[in-house]
Amino acid sequence: MSTFVKTAKTKIKRLPKRGSYDRETIYRIIDEALICHVGFTIDCEPYVVPTAIARVDNDIYIHGSRVSRMLKHLAQGEPACIVVTHIDGLVLARSGFHHSMNYRSVIIFGNGVPVVGPDKRNILDTFVERLVPGRLADIRPINRKELAATTVVKFELNEVSAKIRSGPPADDMEDYDLPVWAGELPLSMTKGKPVTDPDMRMEVPVPTYVKRYKR
Ligand SMILES: Cc1cc2nc3c(=O)[nH]c(=O)nc-3n(C[C@H](O)[C@H](O)[C@H](O)COP(=O)(O)OP(=O)(O)OC[C@H]3O[C@@H](n4cnc5c(N)ncnc54)[C@H](O)[C@@H]3O)c2cc1C
Repeated sequence: MSTFVKTAKTKIKRLPKRGSYDRETIYRIIDEALICHVGFTIDCEPYVVPTAIARVDNDIYIHGSRVSRMLKHLAQGEPACIVVTHIDGLVLARSGFHHSMNYRSVIIFGNGVPVVGPDKRNILDTFVERLVPGRLADIRPINRKELAATTVVKFELNEVSAKIRSGPPADDMEDYDLPVWAGELPLSMTKGKPVTDPDMRMEVPVPTYVKRYKR
């Protein structure tokens, strides 16, 4: 199916015209993200933790230390709510009330499943390649100790929604006569200049995939 099924939990009530359940739209938003925020509760206490995210097909993956509270909790299949957010710009209106942001966000509800066996290594490699495509071919492969020290949890994408705002401010009609600049200030994440590790023990040129890295 090209869209995710809207459920009682994912039905967007507030400004539903900004909502989307389109699979490709949701995949694109997730794939552009380096991080997500994972929400879960332990003993009725809510926690929200930022962490890296990787998508493969219709699953997303979270990884981290075997002793991480979050990973231990998620690996038990406890319910989680995972959010991906991109800020595309500031929306400057003619009143404070209508100031806003242009954004793309995804909210995922689900229960995690621990990843074991050869899939675990593949997913951990995926995390590296997602950071910088081309990197995996250059680096030392993960070893047994590192594999054992790391937990990977998979969430199948089923209960998912996206919300997207774009375009100019939406002001009150009477405010359009005000002599106030209004509009959008686009924002984006850009790469800086690579900084070579001062502890490099030999001359190694900056790889092409680093020089040409694009967000
Ligand atoms: C960068 C950014 C800044 C924002 N700033 C504000 C702000 O200052 N004030 C404000 O009120 N709102 C803001 N929003 C919108 C906010 O995320 C909520 O959509 C909104 O507050 C409505 O919340 P609700 O719980 O009433 O949503 P409801 O419509 O009741 O939510 C029902 C379901 O809709 C889906 N849903 C709701 N919001 C989102 C979303 N953002 N992305 C994907 N799915 C969603 C979820 O599945 C959710 O369970 C912002 C969003 C982003 C991404």
